[in-house]
Amino acid sequence: MKLVVGNLKMNILSPVERERYLGLFKKELGRKKLEKTEIVLCPPPIHLESFFKTLGKKVRIGALNIFWERQGSFTGEVSPAMVKNFGGEYVVLGHSERRRYFCENDQDVSLKIVAALKEGLSPILCVGDKEQGLKSASVVVSQLKNCLDKVNNMRIENVVICYEPVWAISSNNPGRLPTSNDVMSARLTIKKFLVEKYGAKTADKVRIIYGGSVDAKNVREICVDSGMDGALVGRESLEPYEFVKIAEIINR
Ligand code: PEP
Repeated sequence: MKLVVGNLKMNILSPVERERYLGLFKKELGRKKLEKTEIVLCPPPIHLESFFKTLGKKVRIGALNIFWERQGSFTGEVSPAMVKNFGGEYVVLGHSERRRYFCENDQDVSLKIVAALKEGLSPILCVGDKEQGLKSASVVVSQLKNCLDKVNNMRIENVVICYEPVWAISSNNPGRLPTSNDVMSARLTIKKFLVEKYGAKTADKVRIIYGGSVDAKNVREICVDSGMDGALVGRESLEPYEFVKIAEIINR
């Protein structure tokens, strides 16, 4: 199955806004048949349950962060068990905005991946270079090595890897995009790492997706022509019409 993931970031500020968004989303999705594509929406934690209750039959729900402990005195954190028990199946981890604003590092991400897998959640691990250039492959490999250090052959197929060059995220650099060849080469770097660590057969089961300024106009070139298994979509996931259009193109 292909995968299209919406990263709603810290948006949807009120119940009214949420109802409007969910209504539009339902309407857009209602008309479509996307048999080859799994759609995942990741809202802020306060919306998890209502997203699940409203869209849970057609869409999978994910979180945008978890803590590595399951329960206890960790003020303000969200537990993997909470995400699971309120309808979540996925969790985005290692996003560059969490690294930048909350000082998360690879060791934190590694602990969170283990906690997610233990709870039966599928982590969507974001890896990507801060600057476009020659060193980008080594940055990606080092993030993969550190973040997946405790993930064995039995568990890796439940992990999704998202290649997300930080410089291509719409809020960082409007208009800057990798070429289809750049994305294909990042895909090969990730695949090679997975084959070396887990063997070819297991590596083939791991989905590799692309994130960074994806929209309905560029998705064919950067996500489909490059051989990616799907997309992580930020800005355009706030527009149900555009998001579903992206999913339809990936589904073809
Ligand atoms: C993101 O930040 O994960 C992302 C995909 O954002 P955008 O699509 O807005 O670049």
